Amino acid sequence: MNKYLQDLVKLSKYDQSISMFEPQIENEKAKLATFIETAEAIKSQINGIYLEIDDTKSKRTKNNIHLAELKTKLESVSKKSTEISTEKEMKALQLEEEIAKEQIDFANEEIERLDNLAEAKEEQLKELQATLAEEEESIKEIQVAVDNKIEEINKDRNTVYEDRSTLLEKMDSKILTFYEKIKRWANDTAVVPVKKQSCYGCFMKINDKTYSEVIKSEEIVNCPHCGRILYKEDEEIQEA
Ligand SMILES: [Zn+2]
Repeated sequence: MNKYLQDLVKLSKYDQSISMFEPQIENEKAKLATFIETAEAIKSQINGIYLEIDDTKSKRTKNNIHLAELKTKLESVSKKSTEISTEKEMKALQLEEEIAKEQIDFANEEIERLDNLAEAKEEQLKELQATLAEEEESIKEIQVAVDNKIEEINKDRNTVYEDRSTLLEKMDSKILTFYEKIKRWANDTAVVPVKKQSCYGCFMKINDKTYSEVIKSEEIVNCPHCGRILYKEDEEIQEA
């Protein structure tokens, strides 16, 4: 293969892999983001339950105060019963007592219901806290794995940068300018292989004459349709 073409293929492969490093890093970070989102969702659920427990407790306190008031009322009714003289007064007092007793029953039931509710919420809270702890443990582990992977990617990236700059030092400047010009619009596909007699940049079939020039690899050949630099991959040259 023409030496200039060889350099171009190498340079283009370096540039392609350089472009791939950032998405790889983003991909690693995304793995962590999913777990962090889950943990955040659990935290907000936990906060919601804390509020519900507070609300239940404050309702319970109100019921307790009400219960104390009712008991005081019942005591005063029983005190009054010693002072009454008429049957009418007695009936009125009995009615008052019945109502107070009913209200006490109701308040007690309500307190029991609130206690059960609070207990269930506390249970739910414990479960969520355990899930959150597990999730946070996973996050720590994944964080380490992700950091290692990113470090590895950065090392690879540095190696490619070094290889690229070594190549640039010895590359012909006109060839380099030629490449940069195509790269401006073709990005990472400035230099593309020919497969099944087609340009792998624009995917159009190339004529037999151009194709045989590409196979010979004696000079730099551009795609007649899009202008990208064409090359034949080694294994396919052997097949051909
Ligand atoms: Zn093309």
